[in-house]
Amino acid sequence: MSESTLRITEIFCSLQGETRTVGLPTVFIRLTGCPMRCVYCDTSYAFSGGETVGIDDILAKTAEYGAQYVTVSGGEPLAQKNCYELLTRLCDEGYQVSVETGGAMDISPADSRVSVVLDIKTPASGELGKNRWQNIDYLKPDDQIKFVICDRNDYEWARFKMEELGLAHKVNEILFSPSHKQLKPVELANWILEDKLQVRFQQQLHKLLWDDEPGH
Ligand code: SF4
Repeated sequence: MSESTLRITEIFCSLQGETRTVGLPTVFIRLTGCPMRCVYCDTSYAFSGGETVGIDDILAKTAEYGAQYVTVSGGEPLAQKNCYELLTRLCDEGYQVSVETGGAMDISPADSRVSVVLDIKTPASGELGKNRWQNIDYLKPDDQIKFVICDRNDYEWARFKMEELGLAHKVNEILFSPSHKQLKPVELANWILEDKLQVRFQQQLHKLLWDDEPGH
């Protein structure tokens, strides 16, 4: 049987820039390709190119960094079906694994040990129509839901969706991020406080530290 492979853009170690493990040394495995085109995308370099790598080699490269946390990202990692196998293999190795998905693909085959960071695309992302709403049924408490907020309308929409879908009862972490250079972080912070919204405000640490330099 031939070994499973994946198209990979980069593997590197940095500090986790967001989610509940922010600031922790983490290996990032960035898979190539994405079926979406969000207006604020900061990883368009992962839309194409990359190299084909066997899962054994991905695991070997990951181990070199000696980190406990691994994040599988993209692009859209779940657009490659072998990603589900990679997630399971990483869990078997004993890593704390998360996968960052844009929300258009099916999360149900993902290993239950993985924390799924599920984006819900807002109206101003330009990709509202791609949200796969069936994913909400497969969320578990350890997963995380992320809204990237571009403007006040997005904020109101995200609040409404939280309520409508009962998201606070599905996961322990709901993350609100201001879209970089589109919405002032302090505006979003003030809205959350004014409304006593029970969400985690987050600002991407890697952008503050390295201003989007590749490899972070
Ligand atoms: S889903 Fe993520 S990688 Fe894909 S276009 Fe949107 S922001 Fe970029």
